[in-house]
Amino acid sequence: MKMDCIVCGKQVFYTWTSIAGINIQRCRSCGVGITTPVPSAEELLEDNSERYIAAEREKIYLPRIRYFQARYHTYIKEIKKFKKAGALLDIGCNLGIFLLSAQKEGFTVTGVELNKSCAEYGRKRYGLNIHSDYLTKIDFPDETFDVITLYDVLEHVPDIKGMLADIRRKLKNDGLLVIQSPNIDSVLARLTKAKWSWLTPPDHLYHFNPSGLASLLISAGFRIEKSRTWEPAEDFCNNITAAYLPRNIAGRAIQKLLRISRICFIVVLFLQRIWWQRQQGGLIQIYAIKDGRHD
Ligand SMILES: [Zn+2]
Repeated sequence: MKMDCIVCGKQVFYTWTSIAGINIQRCRSCGVGITTPVPSAEELLEDNSERYIAAEREKIYLPRIRYFQARYHTYIKEIKKFKKAGALLDIGCNLGIFLLSAQKEGFTVTGVELNKSCAEYGRKRYGLNIHSDYLTKIDFPDETFDVITLYDVLEHVPDIKGMLADIRRKLKNDGLLVIQSPNIDSVLARLTKAKWSWLTPPDHLYHFNPSGLASLLISAGFRIEKSRTWEPAEDFCNNITAAYLPRNIAGRAIQKLLRISRICFIVVLFLQRIWWQRQQGGLIQIYAIKDGRHD
């Protein structure tokens, strides 16, 4: 099958891994991964409406609300290095917990969330301004936002270039774009491949590496200010043990032992600083500024 790489435009791919009839094809030139066959927009929306339902999301976030608030505090601390306050739009805002944190820390917040149940949850429970539609269909005037964030969202978007162009229009000049996305060049992805928990086909359509994501943003008219990689040590340990331990009583016993003793956690906590330095953490976080010279 002939397809153009979304990052570099070349057409030479190899199969990196396969899972349940879905192949992850990787560009030989820039390393970006593409889920094939590409699911239709209808399939994606149906998958989204089942996967991200508010009642299920609530079970993930609410029991660990302090953990997520602490995590989002670090996200906002990073944002404040570039923008101290202003209008912030979070795309794919889920239940709105990040928006709530950003609001408490001085931003005027707006959310976009395709999943209707999640959007409604954030509106009702937290009184947030959350739109439930595709970004292109929402009537935000040009140059509305100081900051636009996409945490774990871009990998779900079929028309990435169209979306980045739209984001750029809606950002003020010198506005900040923050993107977080799983890193296919990470130590975790290399060790787990088909069992990588952030692969999740067909939900994730694209699988970036730091250099590929940066060049995509540069060609969309952004200037890269900062690019780092990281991952929660706990997520790393959970993924590794699920991938390598047998699914039987012995496997579960070892997993429990590792969790209680925190051995895996402590080892990873120590080692991950080394691979983060090499841009091999599980998640890429990139901070880019709308580049006026692009016009
Ligand atoms: Zn490429």
